[in-house]
Amino acid sequence: MKEKIPAHFAGRRFYAADTWLKEHFGRKTIKLAVDGGFTCPNRDGSKGVGGCTFCSDTGSGEFASTIEEQLSLYARKWPSACYLAYLQNHTNTYAPAEVLYRKYTALLADPRIEGLVIGTRPDCLGDEILDMLAELAGDHFIWLELGLQTIHEQTAAAINRCYELSCFDRAARELSRRHLRYVTHLILGLPGESEEMMLDSVRYAAAAPGLFGLKLHLLNVVRGSTLAKTHPDYTPFAALDDYVDLAVRCLEIIPPHITIHRLTGDAPRPLLINPPWSFNKRTILNRIDEQLSLRDTWQGKKSGCVDKGSL
Ligand code: SF4
Repeated sequence: MKEKIPAHFAGRRFYAADTWLKEHFGRKTIKLAVDGGFTCPNRDGSKGVGGCTFCSDTGSGEFASTIEEQLSLYARKWPSACYLAYLQNHTNTYAPAEVLYRKYTALLADPRIEGLVIGTRPDCLGDEILDMLAELAGDHFIWLELGLQTIHEQTAAAINRCYELSCFDRAARELSRRHLRYVTHLILGLPGESEEMMLDSVRYAAAAPGLFGLKLHLLNVVRGSTLAKTHPDYTPFAALDDYVDLAVRCLEIIPPHITIHRLTGDAPRPLLINPPWSFNKRTILNRIDEQLSLRDTWQGKKSGCVDKGSL
């Protein structure tokens, strides 16, 4: 029988997070990047200093501000959209559970906010915090985002991630056991990694228990990061099309039930150093769509997973 693109992709060639959100909430859903006022264990000295080498001094939160500021950007254009508060920069579970509970419930008390997205690290998810999150998720829409970046310990040490892969494995298991949705972040193009190593990271992350989604970031060298000092001229892919080729091959091995939340980098243009073509997100995404079509391929085509709806 001829393989078909899964119907739940809704006309696309991968399972975009927007498609899932529209289906879930019944309307366009926008994440408002909110600054939760946290830091990271590899910035404040408890695990390390200086942060991850690719991360800017805002903790990768160049777009984060307050709910009011964020709503003023979107509410006029999308008055009937569904809004989620996204605690994006730094480590948003890096505090005692009762402090976190107060912060999260304050955001969720806003009638304009329908749920919470919490960006964090797997080493900041102790049992007490996980239990509190599971309780909160009983009444509210929540997902967590885990910065894994790579499964390779040598690269993890080089980027100053300051936790081991086994820590991610435990967090994934515990989140899944509590039925908490989570999205894993990976970076494509970290110094010292071959394409095979990147594909191995994608395969591994995609097989984690209960995974809801993946974010694939193209490595951006940004001003204010350690990489900008140590590797200012580093360009992970010689040309945009090399990146597009790898992104397509990554999609092919990701099972079709996993939602895709990002397929490129997102650094603001004034901060971006390398690769210079990365600011052109729309072109990169269009090329990925174009290549998926030209190769007549799609997410999961080589994952070995059968999408029952397509048979
Ligand atoms: S990438 Fe995440 S964990 Fe690493 S320094 Fe930046 S905000 Fe902290």
